[in-house]
Amino acid sequence: MLGLWRKIRRTGRVAQSAPPRPEGDRPVAAMGLGGSVQIRHVDAGSCNGCEVEIGSAFGPVYDAERYGARLVASPRHADALVVTGPVTRNMAEPLRRTFDAVPGPKLVVAVGDCARNCGVFAGAYGVTGAASDVVPVDVEIAGCPPRPEAIVEGLRKLTGR
Ligand code: SF4
Repeated sequence: MLGLWRKIRRTGRVAQSAPPRPEGDRPVAAMGLGGSVQIRHVDAGSCNGCEVEIGSAFGPVYDAERYGARLVASPRHADALVVTGPVTRNMAEPLRRTFDAVPGPKLVVAVGDCARNCGVFAGAYGVTGAASDVVPVDVEIAGCPPRPEAIVEGLRKLTGR
C-alpha cells in the first residue's frame, strides 16, 4: 500500500493541461451555478451519432467533468438539459415534461445540427421541429456530430471554467 502511495506521489498529475477558457458570453441563467452544472441528457430523436460524441466528451480523454459538468439521471437533480436529435413527434411531449421537471433557473443546450435546425432530418414526416421549437435553447453546439472538444467547450460556457 505504501508503495502505491509513493508511486502516485512520484507520478503526479498525468492529465493534459486544460485548453483556454472558451470565449463568448455566459448565459445569464448560468451565472448562479457556481462553476458546477448538473446535466440531464434527452435524446429527442437522434441517430445516436451525437450520443457517441457526448460519451467521448465525458470520457477520460476530454473529461468534461473536470470543468464542473456532470451527467445526472433525473431532471429533478439537473440544472441543464442537453438535447440531441430533431424533436420527433413522439418525443415532443416527453421533452416538454422533462424541461418542466428541471428546477429553475434552468438551461438548455442543443447539441448537434439536428437539435439546432433538424439537420439532415429537416422536413421528415416524423419530425416536429428543432429543440428551440419545443423548449427555450440557451446554447447551441454545431456539427453533425459535433466533436467532443466542441461539446466540452459548449459545456464550459455554462460552468464558466
Ligand atoms: S446531428 Fe448528425 S450525428 Fe447528431 S443526431 Fe443529427 S444526424 Fe445524428
